[in-house]
Amino acid sequence: MYYPEPISKLIDSFMKLPGIGPKTAVRLAFFVLNMKEDVVLDFAKALVNAKRNLTYCSSCGHITDKDPCYICEDTKRDRSIICVVQDPKDVIAMEKMKEYNGLYHVLHGAISPMEGIGPEDIKIAELLRRLQDETVQEVILATNPNIEGEATAMYISRLLKPTGVKITRIAHGLPVGGDLEYADEVTLSKALEGRREL
Ligand SMILES: [Zn+2]
Repeated sequence: MYYPEPISKLIDSFMKLPGIGPKTAVRLAFFVLNMKEDVVLDFAKALVNAKRNLTYCSSCGHITDKDPCYICEDTKRDRSIICVVQDPKDVIAMEKMKEYNGLYHVLHGAISPMEGIGPEDIKIAELLRRLQDETVQEVILATNPNIEGEATAMYISRLLKPTGVKITRIAHGLPVGGDLEYADEVTLSKALEGRREL
């Protein structure tokens, strides 16, 4: 009621984003009003295009604009290793490190009894399906070093034991309670190097 309707709508939209409270939303809305029209149009187009043209890779679950994704499709990558992560952002963190040349599997979450998220709610069945193909020899569990990530790693390692595939867990150079995507490249690279067999 304090703002003309188009502005309050814009403020409401910004408030739907994570970490944006009412004050920041107002600041951003007024910032947009002062931007050049073509810049605002590009920004709006980028939002819509990202949503419309991005999908998840049917093989690994990474975010992609074509299916399979560029990682799964890359013939130079080592198909005998799959690195299991919670989120597409973790794939990007691993890729930035430029040391890992295997494939990925994105779980899209972690097991969390507190939040009612069970093994069937994340992409574990899809991982098992990929292992039926005998080219995979090692699965690296790179879930986050917090309670949910550890519980997920333990669950998957128990599930995969009978397959005979080597199962490793990234080392704890990573800060406990942290998020993989926020780890710096050196820490992440050390964590991968020091992975141990489960
Ligand atoms: Zn893929």
